[in-house]
Amino acid sequence: MLIDKYGRQIDYLRISVTERCNFRCQYCMPEKPFSWVPRENLLNYEELFKFVKIAIDEGVTKIRITGGEPLLREHLDRFINMIYNYKQDIDLALTTNGFLLKSVAKKLKDSGLKRINTSLDTLKPEVAKQIAQKDVLTEVLEGTEEALRVGLKVKVNTVIMKNINDDEILDLYEFCKSKNITIRYIEYMKNSFANSDIKGVKTEYILKTISQKYKFKKIEKDSCSPAQYYKDKNGYIFGVIEPYKDDFCKTCNRIRLTAEGHLIPCLYFDEAMSIKESIKANDINRATEIFKEVVANKPEKNRWSEESSSRAFFETGG
Ligand code: SAM
Ligand code: SF4
Repeated sequence: MLIDKYGRQIDYLRISVTERCNFRCQYCMPEKPFSWVPRENLLNYEELFKFVKIAIDEGVTKIRITGGEPLLREHLDRFINMIYNYKQDIDLALTTNGFLLKSVAKKLKDSGLKRINTSLDTLKPEVAKQIAQKDVLTEVLEGTEEALRVGLKVKVNTVIMKNINDDEILDLYEFCKSKNITIRYIEYMKNSFANSDIKGVKTEYILKTISQKYKFKKIEKDSCSPAQYYKDKNGYIFGVIEPYKDDFCKTCNRIRLTAEGHLIPCLYFDEAMSIKESIKANDINRATEIFKEVVANKPEKNRWSEESSSRAFFETGG
């Protein structure tokens, strides 16, 4: 079991398998970065899996694969299956924009994936095009539908922005409710990579909008989850994530691995250590030592700064 020096148990690994993305979301990566990490610098699945085995052996019980857009990495089902075959009861999840999901959802499910989060910010094709700078809505909806059909548990992540999709809070709620998908409204987090014109919408406004039509009650918060969940009168559960208000750090159980092999103890903390050399040299003892050092030195609080956030969401996977 991995416990950091503030007594937090670290049992959740998020792996960003690529920073590349086929969308250019206004709040994340409105422009193609100056350069991508060259493909030859990325750890391959066998190398990433060597680290995954260390993490599982040390007590990680939950793994989420993210990006950039993780489905841009070929044969992701192969990597998922490696993890599943190593430990079948791992809580194995994926966050995707959904664009490429339709044709691979079944393969992912069969390989051992249990849960999926898709990002859905609008139900209007022209707004989806405005946000992602690409005509994406049909594919995203079809991908989400297929994930449900093949039996994956699905949640939707939604970022509400002023004058873009703030008139769709209820439509998105009702759409997800009709499909029994949990929607989570994530407050927009300002960052230096996003389009500077974007303005977020506060959670109070979102809750007030929903309450005009539906009565709901707070559900007791799971201490490690960033989301606060609510249940409405029909038993439908939805969530909100308020990064500016909540102190996620106190109960943070996460560690992040980038496609290049950087182990990041905190989303908003520049320090990271690389496991790349030790993994490439098959030096499992050294990679384990680095992992334990990163956990031990996990900062108590993040150093969140809107202007100077040097790590992009698409690099760390959010
Ligand atoms: N490409 C995948 C996707 O879009 O789901 C996975 C990576 S994306 C970085 C992970 C999540 O981060 C998405 O749900 C996205 O909405 C969220 N995200 C990205 N930028 C954000 C921002 N500035 N504020 C809040 N959430 C953000
Ligand atoms: Fe790509 Fe996801 Fe970022 Fe949108 S939020 S640009 S889909 S990584």
